[in-house]
Amino acid sequence: MQLAQRVKALTPSSTLAITAKAKELKVQGLDVIGLGAGEPDFNTPQHIIDAAVLSMNEGHTKYTPSAGLPALKKEIINKFAKDQGIDFDPSEIIVTSGAKHALYTLFQALLDEGDEVIIPTPYWVSYPEQVKLAGGKPVYIEGKEENDYKITAEQLISVISEKTKAVIINSPSNPTGMLYSESELKELGDVCLKHEILIISDEIYEKLVYGENKHVSIAELSPALKEQTIIINGVSKSHSMTGWRIGYAAGNKALIKAMTNLASHSTSNPTTTAQYGSIAAYSGSQEMLNEMREAFEHRLNTIYDQLIAIPGFTCLKPQGAFYLFPNVSKAAELTGYADVDDFSQALLEEAMVAVIPGSGFGAPNNIRLSYATSLDLLEKAIERIHQFVESKL
Ligand code: PLP
Repeated sequence: MQLAQRVKALTPSSTLAITAKAKELKVQGLDVIGLGAGEPDFNTPQHIIDAAVLSMNEGHTKYTPSAGLPALKKEIINKFAKDQGIDFDPSEIIVTSGAKHALYTLFQALLDEGDEVIIPTPYWVSYPEQVKLAGGKPVYIEGKEENDYKITAEQLISVISEKTKAVIINSPSNPTGMLYSESELKELGDVCLKHEILIISDEIYEKLVYGENKHVSIAELSPALKEQTIIINGVSKSHSMTGWRIGYAAGNKALIKAMTNLASHSTSNPTTTAQYGSIAAYSGSQEMLNEMREAFEHRLNTIYDQLIAIPGFTCLKPQGAFYLFPNVSKAAELTGYADVDDFSQALLEEAMVAVIPGSGFGAPNNIRLSYATSLDLLEKAIERIHQFVESKL
């Protein structure tokens, strides 16, 4: 079978691959602790499940409009008004099968062959692949560790070309957990306005922000920036609804219309039942969000000091999301591994802890550990890693 060039070049998601490998080892009876997960470990709140079941019993089991149920769009619009103070018209919103598919459809609607999308490193694994699948070219800028893995306006200017179509900003970031401040976003936004570059603002971790930190959307900074930005968000991480597959994009009407046309020929609509559940997610109590956020923050504060006590590990303290992203290049060197990929492999096979090597995120010196798992397991995993490193010194 001769496969298409576009899939031959595709690298499978490293996050999903390691998680699958860890599960396989567990099935073989090995006591592996998986820190690869990209999803909250809490159940979806009961009132959301009840609303979805009720909708089915009431007969809402048919297609919906391709861009989503009007009632769900209304809730999303209310959310933007309340959280960001931005007004959106229903024609500026598309509901999709997860935020991932919002991004996929966006790149398909936006990019012509050879168009460039600026992707700051470290990046979420799917951005480059999705850009390439749409015929685009990822252009990377290094978010330097000394700048909390964030890019500066000067760096952005230095890579802009005739072909630049868009830049991706993911705050809070997967994998680094870093947040852009209002002034940093303003500086980046000014560059994008001047050069007419679309800002793709992936805000999927918006609700998971810790300490004194505050999430700011670049689109809320001025009406001009709202026009220049497409926001990507969804209920997966905020409401612990990863399996429901509901995300959305909000932005320019013509772009949303093009995305809707594409969706009408690919997914038809996001699952009807999941849309009804998502209406309840936004219209019902948000209490659970706070409880989850507090649980994540408590875990982070408990394990952070244990993590940086491991010889050769350095780590910026995350401000949001649910990942730790230590630089472990020194630890790999001290323990005799050629690189961090080999070190990660050994962590899985010898220490029985599954972490994601940073190479998949464009950051080969780091590993990503998810703290979306119980504190007991987290402490046990960090202890195992510590002992593993000590034993090899
Ligand atoms: N954007 C980022 C940065 C993510 O980490 C993820 C999920 O891991 C997504 C988008 C996709 O979210 P969804 O599950 O809604 O497709």
